[in-house]
Amino acid sequence: MSVQALKSSFGSNCHWCGLPMDFEEPRSKPDSATIEHLLDSTLGSVRKQKYRRLAHVICNHTRNEFRLQAEREFQRWIEARQAVGKP
Ligand SMILES: [Zn+2]
Repeated sequence: MSVQALKSSFGSNCHWCGLPMDFEEPRSKPDSATIEHLLDSTLGSVRKQKYRRLAHVICNHTRNEFRLQAEREFQRWIEARQAVGKP
């Protein structure tokens, strides 16, 4: 499903913040519309069209940053837990 098709289905506002997106080419500005995949293939799920939405480049990017940050924090927590658990 293309950006235009998603725009027709879901409107021209960002999935995350609800603010209007920029549809001008090239779509490389922070407020440009980009396709957000709500299910990641890393979770073992096949990417399905019904889970595609449009979001700002900046919202998409920031969401990914927070998720990576959370993953790193979890990894540190696991390491700390393992260190304590050692005999
Ligand atoms: Zn947004």
